Amino acid sequence: MGRLRAGAAQVVITPPVGVWMAGFAARPSASQGIHDDLMAKALVLDDGAQRVALVTADLLGLDFDLLTRLKEHIQRQTGIAPEGVLFNASHTHGGPMTNTLRGMGERDEAYCDLLLRHIVGAVKMAVDRLQDARIGFGSAPCCIGFNRRERIRRDVVLGLVKRGPTDTRVDVMRVDALDGQPLAVVFRHATHPVVLGADNVLITADWCGYAARTLPHFLITQPPNHPATQPVCLFVQGCCGDINPIQRGSFEAAAWLGRIVAAASAQAWYPIETREEVTLKTSLRILPLPLQDPPSVEEAEKQLEAYQQRAADAPKTQTNPGMVRTYQDLVGWAEKILEFAKEGIKPRTQDFVVQTLTIDDTAIVGLSGEPFIELAWDIERRSPCARTWVLGYTNGCIGYVPTARAYEEGGYEVVDAVRYYGDLMIRPESAQRIGDAAVEMMRET
Ligand SMILES: [Zn+2]
Repeated sequence: MGRLRAGAAQVVITPPVGVWMAGFAARPSASQGIHDDLMAKALVLDDGAQRVALVTADLLGLDFDLLTRLKEHIQRQTGIAPEGVLFNASHTHGGPMTNTLRGMGERDEAYCDLLLRHIVGAVKMAVDRLQDARIGFGSAPCCIGFNRRERIRRDVVLGLVKRGPTDTRVDVMRVDALDGQPLAVVFRHATHPVVLGADNVLITADWCGYAARTLPHFLITQPPNHPATQPVCLFVQGCCGDINPIQRGSFEAAAWLGRIVAAASAQAWYPIETREEVTLKTSLRILPLPLQDPPSVEEAEKQLEAYQQRAADAPKTQTNPGMVRTYQDLVGWAEKILEFAKEGIKPRTQDFVVQTLTIDDTAIVGLSGEPFIELAWDIERRSPCARTWVLGYTNGCIGYVPTARAYEEGGYEVVDAVRYYGDLMIRPESAQRIGDAAVEMMRET
């Protein structure tokens, strides 16, 4: 138990026009403009014994090589060890390609170099601003998303299920200066930032950006709404692998959903009681998740042929240049699967990062994928901590983590998405193993 010190900072990370945007295979072109700025934010907490950094960014995700470089830079420049840095991406589909996906264009290396420097800068500024502080937690009801795994006859499609599993609350961390002035607010909710769709070619932070920009205006501060006293509002994305927003297709809809989340967060924030003494603990584990076996060589050859044919026909059958590019790039996936098929059945794994950050009896669990909301609920239910936040898109992103039951049903997250993300899908028991590890780590800390 030690006296809390906290510091927060934010920087703009908007990429230049012309970079490829991550998230949609059907996007017709690279970015053609900027609608709203993307931000990276850092909150550094120190209890005298342990220093941790919570880092967020308006990005789809971050490739593992970029994440490793980021954490190395942060350690070199601030002394905070990689286990103590929790990086969460909002998963906006209106950001640059920093999470390489097949068929969606190229990563802009010059931008990525600068991006890492910007994020490290935010962490450094937050360290420089460390001051005595108070912290507390709360939550409020909130829902802007529906489960998207809609069953139509025997298939599961990307739709909306009004009574399916979805996130129904916001969680809020309140960090104030000793005089009560808010320094930072961290708010968690889980809904895919896909209000703007594949046809949008303007850089945007989607609903999460609107929520973060709106939230300071809902908080009661002294003097009211003065920019110099506005807290840094960090959004962390929960487990929204199976949740889409209830409204889509326009910036107005994104603004509306952002306002709903901001208002709910303010409602949760206001009654939070804060304290000066805390104990901070972190742990990080890398789980080698077993992958599914490849098909037979015969099947893989047939599949490759079909993919080659579709790519060859695409210029004639597709009017969207994005789909022509995607079909051509997906041939690469089918080639990879044939390679695996020729190697035969053998144990193959994909590394997955589980991180826990505990602040007294509150645990923040970070997972490096797109888990379904059901996994968050499972971890919350089994958690030894009084309060548990489960985040996806944290410390990189390997792709979807469906529930075991979803594998029986099929659908985009189970069958299709891996073609963009990687090669072979993780096995159905993955969610269970990730949950077990998270619960064990919380028990140990
Ligand atoms: Zn996603």
